Amino acid sequence: MPRFASGVVKFQDEVYPEKRALFEKLSAGQSPEALFVTCSDSRIDANLITQTDPGELFICRNAGNIIPPYTDYTGAMTASIELAVTGLNVPHIVICGHTDCAAMHGALQPERLDGLPHVKEWLGYTQKALDRAQALGEGNDAAAIMRLLLEQNVILQLAHLKEHPSVAARLAAGDIRLHGWIYDIKAGDVSAYDDANGAFVPVADYYAAEIAALARPPATP
Ligand SMILES: [Zn+2]
Repeated sequence: MPRFASGVVKFQDEVYPEKRALFEKLSAGQSPEALFVTCSDSRIDANLITQTDPGELFICRNAGNIIPPYTDYTGAMTASIELAVTGLNVPHIVICGHTDCAAMHGALQPERLDGLPHVKEWLGYTQKALDRAQALGEGNDAAAIMRLLLEQNVILQLAHLKEHPSVAARLAAGDIRLHGWIYDIKAGDVSAYDDANGAFVPVADYYAAEIAALARPPATP
């Protein structure tokens, strides 16, 4: 029996009974706080790193956390974004890249993609990020260029996201917020893109004011 199958039995015996009320509530509908776009990489657990429960994140995953630019072609990402943004009215969208990303390694070293023609074509959607990372990182070592690529890929995919009509409409209405993150598998760090400064900063710093507001007791009238 594979470990993932025996895990279902454990879930039913031990985990489900503890969270029965949550699952019964969720059976009537969902109202997720965010569309969370990340890589398919097995080492990313979106709910673990955000400490969220089922029902809180609408998760879309693919190789390289890529959002193809909008076209009339109906693809999985286009439909999922539309469902989350217009159908479920999520107030936030997160694009979360990560360290040691096989897709980004492939973009940097195309020889790794021999025999993977669809991956190669898919990574065309990050070509502009690759060009920018190589220009910004000229003279730096491979690790520094890889980090730049991870960052530029998230920034590029945020730009693609804004072109999707469902997102553009909500942005125009001012009722949706976009977030670009990078998760460091080894360190457990998550950094967020600070649009104002054009840099990635630790999540604890980027959201410091909001975290502090949450911790403050409500003002008494
Ligand atoms: Zn990846």
